Amino acid sequence: MLDDKTANALMDAVDEGFGAQISQTADLVRFPSTRGAEAPAQDFMAGQMRDRGLDVDRFKVDIDEIRHWPGFSPVHVDYDNAWNVVGSRRVANPKGRSLILNGHIDVVPAGPLDMWSTPPFEPRVENGWLYGRGSGDMKAGLMACLAAMDAVERAGFGLTADVFVQSVVEEECTGNGALACLARGYKADAALIPEPQNQGMIRAQIGVIWFQVKVRGIPVHVADAGEGANAIEAAYTVMQALHELEHDWNSRKDQYPP
Ligand SMILES: [Zn+2]
Repeated sequence: MLDDKTANALMDAVDEGFGAQISQTADLVRFPSTRGAEAPAQDFMAGQMRDRGLDVDRFKVDIDEIRHWPGFSPVHVDYDNAWNVVGSRRVANPKGRSLILNGHIDVVPAGPLDMWSTPPFEPRVENGWLYGRGSGDMKAGLMACLAAMDAVERAGFGLTADVFVQSVVEEECTGNGALACLARGYKADAALIPEPQNQGMIRAQIGVIWFQVKVRGIPVHVADAGEGANAIEAAYTVMQALHELEHDWNSRKDQYPP
């Protein structure tokens, strides 16, 4: 546990840098880093890391390097421009425990533009909230990783173990970007993912299953429609059953160890 004096010094240092933190987060939001188009935003992150003196490792997600790892998800999109960026601050004689700070740079598509009150990739602050696609999920978290390291330094504390800041692609569909960091050899005693989730610390969460269901009908002449089977109507029954299964699984989510 931190003593009050140390905690206050850190909090003051965070406050002191908060204006810069928000403006850098806004700069990051301006990059429309939807899946497959993350590279310019990753270049920005690499620059931010370099400015802070971190060792920057920028590498492409190679499917062949990760396909045999647990947690790998099948790939249905192009990875030709899928670049991860990791900034490392290594300590010569570590005394403390090492840490990975991990966040994803990809954002979900903006959707219909006419449902936005201002353009999605034009950040704006209103009533203390930063708006713009990806501000919350999770560019604020990514910049907070770097801002936290700034604050530690500004408060006059040195790091006692290695810290790795990972800005990864491909979270909105799979998790292959983070997996690629692990496959590349990045390990630490702990990992913190500043994803905006219930505004609290959580140790585990539900995952995602991707699958396809094929429903076949029985084609007949329209005069004999009652004899056939409509695949779309049958799919509706399947969907209802899947909703029930989802509800059942989610109702048991707190029965698993983290
Ligand atoms: Zn997210």
